[in-house]
Amino acid sequence: MRLEVSGIVKRFGGVTALNGVDLAVEEGEFLTILGPSGSGKTTLLKSVAGFEVPDEGVVRLGDQDVTMAPARHRNVGMVFQNYALFPHLTVAENLAFPLQMRSVGKAEIARRVKEALALVELDAFAERLPRQLSGGQQQRVALARAIIFGPALLLLDEPFGALDRKLRESLQLEVRRLQRRLRLTTLFITHDQEEALIMSDRIAVMDKGRIQQLGTPSEVYDFPVSRFVADFIGESNLIEGTAQGTEVYVPGFGALTLPQAPASGPVTLLLRPEALRLGAEAQAAPCRAQATVLETVFLGLSVKLRLRPEGGPDLLARLPLRPSDPPPAPDGATVTIGFAPGDIHVVPRG
Ligand code: ATP
Repeated sequence: MRLEVSGIVKRFGGVTALNGVDLAVEEGEFLTILGPSGSGKTTLLKSVAGFEVPDEGVVRLGDQDVTMAPARHRNVGMVFQNYALFPHLTVAENLAFPLQMRSVGKAEIARRVKEALALVELDAFAERLPRQLSGGQQQRVALARAIIFGPALLLLDEPFGALDRKLRESLQLEVRRLQRRLRLTTLFITHDQEEALIMSDRIAVMDKGRIQQLGTPSEVYDFPVSRFVADFIGESNLIEGTAQGTEVYVPGFGALTLPQAPASGPVTLLLRPEALRLGAEAQAAPCRAQATVLETVFLGLSVKLRLRPEGGPDLLARLPLRPSDPPPAPDGATVTIGFAPGDIHVVPRG
């Protein structure tokens, strides 16, 4: 079902947690709210779930205004970071619970519990108690319990926060597969930008109680609308230059001609570390500089270099690395670095 929130304001004493939030999650869409701590993500989710009543604004599920409806009337499934399973109930009993609350018949409950267990591949664990399961298994039970009653909307609040990296990655894929298969409208909260980029149809970047940008992962990554978004998503080189007409002067690199003229005066250019060219590749780039390698960090599949161009700002570069590749330039070496207009994005000022 489609979710729409409009004009949501929520204050706690002197703190404005949500300051006019408008957002629509389309039917079957996986939309992520991404933002730093305190940006209002949880408050937004609670307003949608019915655990907080906004001071202003409207929450709509399908064609129904549910702004004032209690949580139990909203037909929403939720998964939190801390599992929140009933510790004294078995896995099967935990799964049966939301169905019992909805007065589903015994035979139907047994059928649906079996089906849900199969869906999250926990068939063999029906009779275990939550404490007899690993964190990842508990979270799969929590997920199954959130969807077993066929909710109109799934809300996920940092559901992988307590899991180690490997488990988190496999559960991310599992959740996404399940969500697609069931075509569940999903609102997902995370402060982990990598997770947001991997999982989402669209991402809403929040800061200070407002949505700063809403777009597909590649839109927010490649075309951030502000310095905050550019900095928050992915690693970035933010280079200060000066524009005059279509020419931008970049310290250490000289002038670069852009296809479209930004406003004359100071401009901020975003150059992602993987877009910075090095060595032979940089020779043909219209903007070039000689740079000293300050530091090299091996990351397995790639290598990250911190570089200091003569007369320019320090920059990060990230190069893919195959096992057969020779090591990149050693620390202290001088390399040619460069970029072309297509490698950069002019970050709007705001
Ligand atoms: P985190 O990632 O740390 O969970 P968040 O983005 O989810 O952060 P919220 O929990 O929504 O942020 O909080 C937004 C702001 O509202 C914060 O300044 C927080 O301190 C404040 N806040 C949230 N709930 C309450 C409350 N019940 N009483 C008072 N202030 C609150």
